[in-house]
Amino acid sequence: MLDLRSDTVTKPTAAMRAAMAAAPVGDDVFGDDPTINALQQRIAKLAGKEAALIASSGTQTNLLALLSHCQRGDEYLVGQEYHTYRYEAGGAAVLGGIVPQPFELEADGTLNLTQVEKRIKPDDPHFPITRLLSLENTHTGKVISQDFMLKARKLCNKHGLKLHLDGARIFNACVASEQSLATLVEPFDSVSICFSKGLGTPIGSVLVGSHKLIERARRWRKMLGGGMRQAGIVAAAMDYALDHHLERLADDHRHAQQLHDGLMQLSQNGAAITVEPAQTNMVYLNYNSTDDAQKVSTHLREQGIIVGAGQRLRLVTHLDISSQDIERVIIAFDQALKLL
Ligand SMILES: *Cc1c(COP(=O)(O)O)cnc(C)c1O
Repeated sequence: MLDLRSDTVTKPTAAMRAAMAAAPVGDDVFGDDPTINALQQRIAKLAGKEAALIASSGTQTNLLALLSHCQRGDEYLVGQEYHTYRYEAGGAAVLGGIVPQPFELEADGTLNLTQVEKRIKPDDPHFPITRLLSLENTHTGKVISQDFMLKARKLCNKHGLKLHLDGARIFNACVASEQSLATLVEPFDSVSICFSKGLGTPIGSVLVGSHKLIERARRWRKMLGGGMRQAGIVAAAMDYALDHHLERLADDHRHAQQLHDGLMQLSQNGAAITVEPAQTNMVYLNYNSTDDAQKVSTHLREQGIIVGAGQRLRLVTHLDISSQDIERVIIAFDQALKLL
């Protein structure tokens, strides 16, 4: 089966599994796991930050950051469509008493900083205390401009706010923009990075920031039940991914472009879809109706290809999808769209 729903569907390779099996381990809650300790140091250094902390998921590293920056009754500024607002079950509000202030996104995935500045609350007992701005890179595959990030940093400095980045796919942004991780995350006080997306590990995310922030996050992680024991087997997979799966993200981006070009061709030949430009490892297409989406999805599944069934469809390339696979996908789309 070819699964294009997400880059989270990748399976650990035999070599990654071997690295996991061979990892020296210890009790990480005691700070005794050498593989965890080495990987946290490696990532902190790579990001140009003081410290790093591994957790089970990106939802958890984002939550750890929000809980560590903000107190109960504080507010964070965020995009409506950003993961830290929309896709984390309201964890910051539910578990931290942190008030979200969401904003509509601009077309390029950024926020209108003039609008954001207007919503920063004055020091007045009527209001929550505005504490943090939370951004995202990449967003729906789009690489966010560094110019925007630097302007956001300036705004935060002006108002004494902290700045967090949900960098679930920050390595895609690094590869696409040919910038180092340290450069892209330089403006941020904390960054959450996923290894279970394009990097292809079975689980694992990391939070980077100052020693002080990471120590607070460690306490929250324990409280949330996220303290793991011989977690070095996870860190070994993450270490393997940094060595072997980072530069190859460029292949995923090429495959997304190949998929875009093929689908565009079908659209120009009269197929009832519109295709959006490829962005890193993602391509979005739009059907005329949910009924069309359902029909195509069903036909593709019969051909061994798994895609979603929304009217706006996200297709994601990853480690387990080759250039030949993309050719197969385009042919299957051609057949399926002709049935509409
Ligand atoms: C996947 C993702 C996360 C974290 O998701 P988990 O499934 O909890 O690891 C956070 N932000 C973005 C933008 C994501 O795509």
